[in-house]
Amino acid sequence: MIEIRVGELAELLGVHRNTVRNWIKSGALKASQTVGKKYSVSEEEFRRFCTLQSIPESVAYRVLSKEVYLAGKEENIMPQSEAVGDVRTVGDRHSVLRADPGWADLCLTCGSCASACPISGVDGFDPRKIVRMVVLGRTQEVVESNWPWKCTLCGKCEEACPMNLELVKLFRRIRSLRERDKVPGPLHKGVLMALRRGNNLGIPKADFVELLEEVGEELAEESCPGFRTPVEVEGANLMLTINSKEPFGEPDDMKFWWKIFYAAGESWTVPAENWEGVNWGLFTGDDDAMRIMVGRIVDNMLRLDCKKLVLPE
Ligand code: SF4
Ligand code: SF4
Repeated sequence: MIEIRVGELAELLGVHRNTVRNWIKSGALKASQTVGKKYSVSEEEFRRFCTLQSIPESVAYRVLSKEVYLAGKEENIMPQSEAVGDVRTVGDRHSVLRADPGWADLCLTCGSCASACPISGVDGFDPRKIVRMVVLGRTQEVVESNWPWKCTLCGKCEEACPMNLELVKLFRRIRSLRERDKVPGPLHKGVLMALRRGNNLGIPKADFVELLEEVGEELAEESCPGFRTPVEVEGANLMLTINSKEPFGEPDDMKFWWKIFYAAGESWTVPAENWEGVNWGLFTGDDDAMRIMVGRIVDNMLRLDCKKLVLPE
């Protein structure tokens, strides 16, 4: 076991103390309180947590090596040159957000990312500025800023970057560090709703199926004689996912895809549950939620034995 202090760990990782407290409170970092303001955590758990959070090996090692040293196991201490070798610093600061330790050298500050970005200039947003803030260790400032949330994750900056920096990954990583109750707009609420009910707006299964059947009947009367909405059809070629805002507020929009499938004589289906096609876990940097939602789609594909997936979003 190793012992950690919230303040020390926060400083080392370049995050706010509340972020560390929230990790512990939510169980993301499984630690138990000991005397004073210290927490006890197993080495294995701490390594698991560091891997999940993409915390650089050398930063993790600083926490672990200190304890290993205190325990008198000096043979386990990474040599100083290696321990700091993969964290390049500007001044004496480093940042947990630096996905790659070479960033300080790699970013040319050329501005190609800013030129390619369709929202560059909106409210002062500029991807290059974010990269520089990260490189300079201004982690908390960038996490609390609204800039990373303006990004559409389109990836044009990455394509333009002559140094192939993984900018989209960086922006998602920054978002993941925002406390969940401070995620802008309804995004995090949508994630929780999707986890609980299978879609971002919490539409119950019976209402959804009934609506699909009604819209299908309308379509048959309007322009597609004999059309019936194929819900839960096993062995269909395509499985279609749906943006929950369509059944919720714009049900006629669903007809566009359906008309194409009808005209093409396609074999397709919609699952009755977990049909959400918009994964807000992706947008909010919530990898765990994203995995669960993707897993449900895969489960539906396997359960219904469909060949291909259509994600119109
Ligand atoms: S395009 Fe790449 S190298 Fe140029 S400023 Fe942006 S991140 Fe840095
Ligand atoms: S991914 Fe974000 S920062 Fe990059 S070009 Fe698209 S909107 Fe701009």
